[in-house]
Amino acid sequence: SIPVITIDGPSASGKGTIAQLVAKKLAFHYLDSGALYRLVALSVIQSNVDSTNESALADIALNLNVRFHDSSLQLNGEDVTNSIRTEECGKLASIIARQLKVRAALLQRQRAFRQPPGLVTDGRDMGTVVFPDATLKIFLTASAEERAQRRYKQLIEKGINANIQTLLQDIYERDARDSTRDISPLKQGEDTKLLDTTSLSIEEVVNEVLRLYNA
Ligand code: C5P
Repeated sequence: SIPVITIDGPSASGKGTIAQLVAKKLAFHYLDSGALYRLVALSVIQSNVDSTNESALADIALNLNVRFHDSSLQLNGEDVTNSIRTEECGKLASIIARQLKVRAALLQRQRAFRQPPGLVTDGRDMGTVVFPDATLKIFLTASAEERAQRRYKQLIEKGINANIQTLLQDIYERDARDSTRDISPLKQGEDTKLLDTTSLSIEEVVNEVLRLYNA
């Protein structure tokens, strides 16, 4: 079957950066599954839909009109690459991601990214739920302080305003919400390799993932 490398882990653990670099090295496709939840959140904000209305949210998730262009994203023809990265959008994404109907609505869309020659994907439940038969499953983590620092730098580089204390608080809240929810909680599966990246460089992590894949 078509190879899949899943990289799951908590918010701001570097999953996206690592997954994209690994995909590039292997010339595989890349799926940022968190972006899909963020896109649903952005649609909710834009359309004034009640974020507790499960059916309405599932409807939005099923009908997302999204285009992936290299590293940019379009929603209904509008470039939303940066607007889905705000703290507001991330927070709402994690709230609506607790709903079973929303998760179910995004399942096939995610699986459709499994195309030759292969896929690298990052998220919370890629190895546990979406691609249980993945070739290699990684659980990427780093200390909360390190993750807050990384997200801060990332946002500032993109010209988005940020506050380090708010980010750290947000990370604690998001970790709690993502790992204690009933459906598809963030957890390390038994068949998953744990990679703590707190004191590793991006290059070291990428090389370790490639080494595990080729082993
Ligand atoms: O990874 P990112 O921070 O962009 O994801 C935003 C939110 O979407 C997460 O906090 C999480 O609640 C949700 N998510 C999820 N399952 C995934 C990816 C993201 O529940 N596979």
